[in-house]
Amino acid sequence: MLVRFRGIKFHVSNKFDNYTQRIIINFQISGQKLYLWRKNAIDNAIAAKVSVKEVDWLLQHISDLDSLSLRLESFKNRPKIFLQKSIEQITILWQKRLKEHLPVQYIVGRVSWRNFELDVSPSVLIPRPETELIIDIVQQTSCYSKSSHWVDLGTGSGAIALGLASLLPDATIHAVDYSEAALAIAKTNAIKTKLINQIQFYQGNWWTPLSHLKGKVQGMVSNPPYIPSSQLPQLQPEVFEHEPHLALDGGTDGLDAIRYLVKASPEYLISGGLWLIEAMAGQAAAVVAMLSQHKDYENIKIICDLGGIERFILAFRR
Ligand code: GLN
Repeated sequence: MLVRFRGIKFHVSNKFDNYTQRIIINFQISGQKLYLWRKNAIDNAIAAKVSVKEVDWLLQHISDLDSLSLRLESFKNRPKIFLQKSIEQITILWQKRLKEHLPVQYIVGRVSWRNFELDVSPSVLIPRPETELIIDIVQQTSCYSKSSHWVDLGTGSGAIALGLASLLPDATIHAVDYSEAALAIAKTNAIKTKLINQIQFYQGNWWTPLSHLKGKVQGMVSNPPYIPSSQLPQLQPEVFEHEPHLALDGGTDGLDAIRYLVKASPEYLISGGLWLIEAMAGQAAAVVAMLSQHKDYENIKIICDLGGIERFILAFRR
């Protein structure tokens, strides 16, 4: 069956096709009914102290409505709105958001990050907006030889690896993660964004699977786990109860992975090679101290995120 969706004709099938991003539209609802559902969901969100924007975020991903028509409520008089799930199923998902604190990104399995629409699941950390800047920092840092090797350690959804691949079209990106489930998501994202040919994926612990790249790497970029173990339970329940602790837990002082990355990276980086990580608010000075004590680094800098928090630490291999 053919269905028209945002002016485009789609074949409707029973399965979501991840690779062609074909949208499956099996359900319909009147604009009036959806308007009432949305109004009620917004009231529930306010009562549960959840951002009301999440209602539209969910609806945008599972209906043929865009954010503007939702915000202006211009869909109210449409006789038919197409949905990917029944309104009963959507109600159950919304209850999971409110009662079980399941992040809306995991509910719809998608997140926007830079210019990408990425798949996410509870096997990967939801890529954060502040991390988007890490790619701009690489861009502003200097010029690089064309066929360089770049590394994203702890790639998760693959976000940083994809950002590097699109910024550096002639480079090879090596993306490592300990979790096979995370790597499966990262590979899917690389296929969907058509960057798969530039990225090699490895299962393993940090630098361990990359021994063939010793002395050859132009840049190492990482968003490692950096939350001190004792602070994990104080994170929002959305994070603590649903996001992978492997991607969050940085050990007693939160700096275990960063300490390792300071120590292990010089062996892999070329002279002048870039070392760039994200850290938690309040950790930058300790990271700078670690790098400064290590004779192999120079030009060490702290860079703030858009909220003015000291978020990124940049250094170069001597
Ligand atoms: N930025 C994440 C948070 O605030 C933590 C990510 C990490 O540990 N690398 O929960």
